[in-house]
Amino acid sequence: MTSAKANTNSNALSCIYCAGRRPFTRWSHEHIWPRRLGGTRSPEIFRTHQVCQTCNSLAGTWVEPPFYKNWFMQIDAAISGLRYLPRDMPGSTALMYQGFDDAVPVADDEVCERWGGPSQEIIFHIHKRDEPRWETLPGGDFLRRNTKDQGRVYFFLTSPEEYWSLTTIKSIIDHFPLAHRRCLTLLEGLARSVPILWRDDPSISEHDARDVAWLLEHGLEPRRIRMAFNTAFADRFLAKLAIGLGHTILGPRVSSSAYADRLRNLLWNSTPGQHADSELRGTGFWRSEGQSDFRDPLAIEGAWTIAVGAFYPAFGYSLSTSSGRSMSMMVSDDPGLWTPGVVEQYHEMQIFIVVPQRQLFLGPYRVIDFVSHRLGRRLIAALAELEDSRVGLQDLPPRRLPGQSEARGSF
Ligand SMILES: [Zn+2]
Repeated sequence: MTSAKANTNSNALSCIYCAGRRPFTRWSHEHIWPRRLGGTRSPEIFRTHQVCQTCNSLAGTWVEPPFYKNWFMQIDAAISGLRYLPRDMPGSTALMYQGFDDAVPVADDEVCERWGGPSQEIIFHIHKRDEPRWETLPGGDFLRRNTKDQGRVYFFLTSPEEYWSLTTIKSIIDHFPLAHRRCLTLLEGLARSVPILWRDDPSISEHDARDVAWLLEHGLEPRRIRMAFNTAFADRFLAKLAIGLGHTILGPRVSSSAYADRLRNLLWNSTPGQHADSELRGTGFWRSEGQSDFRDPLAIEGAWTIAVGAFYPAFGYSLSTSSGRSMSMMVSDDPGLWTPGVVEQYHEMQIFIVVPQRQLFLGPYRVIDFVSHRLGRRLIAALAELEDSRVGLQDLPPRRLPGQSEARGSF
């Protein structure tokens, strides 16, 4: 949301993300934790109005999507998404990104990307070739995809279970809402009311006819997929989150500290990861896969965990993705700048649990209460409800993946 807010004092304040380095346009409502990751109903500390419209827009294009659309996160979302499917009716879940399929003959100004469905359905997305800077973002230039050039999507279903076929089709419609979509599998009895074209529907263009003919003959042949990804995809996002939480929790003096300037450099660095700031890393910017001290008792499988707290004399946060990937960042190293009372309030970590697929944002929970819940000693009702509503593969119709008579078991 970028609704402008008139503020008579606005000239006296500067944007927390650029500290006035950008020409001031208007204030905007910024979700420090992105809506796409479940931030629609986040508590106040995850929102601010003190961000200029330019930064808000830049963050929505070059900071947040590279984080949550990244290949690593797509895999996370696809795996955890299965846990939140409804038991008794087809649902919608994230697709798994696989990369570019250069063997598919497309026009000179087009590319073909491949995605996987929840029971290994094979999905081809042919769209216009974007500028190279979009190459590491699955789906390419989403601004362009959202307006025109949505592209053409073709897919093969794999499961004879209507539950999985319809879940795949719903997921494809959600993922490619504006594309021309066609199912290449002939299935008897599947409800044909869904808004897609079927294999035997007439072609809508010359491109379409050519794609269908080629994919029916070669689409399922095994071949190499090309993938490009940015390993420093998290840097800017982690910096943005640290600046935002520093401002909303610790107060304005933190936003104007030298450390906040370092965070801003990381946020707007043209090549994140290339110019590692030793001060940032040395004082708490680390990426630990499976090594975070407090990850295990805190992570909830299939959900994001945000832990915010004062680790005197520093203040920081830790983030666990839905698959347990862990990241952390220091927000401030100078308690002298913090709003009075923060240490008392945050001397224990505050825990938030986020499930993007359900737009669920729970917390804050005191770490002691959270751990009691995890140990089964004293349940937190909202968390218990979330855990009860998750499914395992054994709760859903069998997927019957290719080469298997039946795919059951746990995730
Ligand atoms: Zn700004």
